Amino acid sequence: MGWKTLDDMELDGKRVLVRVDINVPVEDGVVTDTTRIERLIPTVDDIQEAGGKVILMAHFGRPKGQVVPELSLVHIAQTVADVLEVPVSFADSDYAEALSEMDDDEVLLLENLRFNPGEEQNDIAFAKRLASLADIYCNDAFSAAHRAHASTEAIARLLPACAGRLMQEELGALEKALETPQRPVVAVVGGAKVSTKLDLLGNLVEKVDTLVIGGGMANTFLAAQGIDVGKSLCEHDLVDTAREIASKADAAGCKILLPNDVVVAREFKAGADAQTVAAANVPADSMILDAGPDAVAAISAAFEASRTLVWNGPLGAFEIEPFDTATNAAAAKAATLSKSGALISVAGGGDTVAALNKAGAADDFTYISTAGGAFLEWMEGKDLPGVAALKS
Ligand code: ADP
Ligand code: MG
Repeated sequence: MGWKTLDDMELDGKRVLVRVDINVPVEDGVVTDTTRIERLIPTVDDIQEAGGKVILMAHFGRPKGQVVPELSLVHIAQTVADVLEVPVSFADSDYAEALSEMDDDEVLLLENLRFNPGEEQNDIAFAKRLASLADIYCNDAFSAAHRAHASTEAIARLLPACAGRLMQEELGALEKALETPQRPVVAVVGGAKVSTKLDLLGNLVEKVDTLVIGGGMANTFLAAQGIDVGKSLCEHDLVDTAREIASKADAAGCKILLPNDVVVAREFKAGADAQTVAAANVPADSMILDAGPDAVAAISAAFEASRTLVWNGPLGAFEIEPFDTATNAAAAKAATLSKSGALISVAGGGDTVAALNKAGAADDFTYISTAGGAFLEWMEGKDLPGVAALKS
């Protein structure tokens, strides 16, 4: 793994500066979803139980280096205290004073890091100011690890650094899925466009045994085979790229699975007249909005033949019925196999998580990443600055 965890650190009597993600949704001043705060409990508990003092630092929204009062973390402090069940004190810009007043059982929360322009500039001077508050740096914000910021990158060079429990869990799950997976590995890549997922496809064909391509991006691959996809969403300027990906897959021994049959409609709206046709027979006035039952059967068979599944992107336009059918069915299959221990399943991506929740399958997946951009960059094979910094 190459990075340290809290277990490797001497925490007793030490101040631990923990980078967290508490970028929670707020409506009318009320936090509407505390999931991100709940997920910090293991890290905070473990540090306190080992005799360490916790200082939390985080960003909130996009103040772009300026003080924006509505984006102050002072508004979140009480919710953090309630969820963590510990007293929380707050430090605006005068960190030193707040630190001197901090009680032993108290958690100190620093003001929104992005109020300081040094944060997003990965400024070493700002990182030094932060580092001066503590003995140990702990990064528990995987979702911010794809950014090289003062609190995720520079600071890791200034203090003994380790991963928090959440970061540890996320990195562990992702390494199991793509770095040292049980084979065969199947990947599902769906969603709207090939253009947003070129790096992802390029990396996956080298790493997985079967690549299921679904959603709107499958249309571009069908078009690359000379199939007329009618009015479907299709990036005709990318058919050569799709062919390159297909031949790269071939060379790497990765089998690409495209839908044999598809669900089409003349319009993309609820209750539209939908019909199932062979992928080669899409009517000129219609668009592909979902994979068909044969495609779902082939995807299910690929899941059954695999030990590990990574999934990003829905198989169809899942927001509107009945075009969620293939996504729901494949998600249910993955959930059943995961529950029985036959499959290790890891999924991530904004719409993917929404689709798997809608399908009622998310709870049975082995791991669901809520890290968004950082998850995608990991899947693309990129080095995440926040993770690399923990390794050096
Ligand atoms: P994620 O956020 O999980 O990375 P994407 O944003 O790439 O996923 O893709 C999700 C979007 O893809 C959804 O809005 C969905 O409606 C769209 N989509 C899937 N299949 C099709 C299709 N056949 N035609 C048009 N849009 C599609
Ligand atoms: Mg999306």
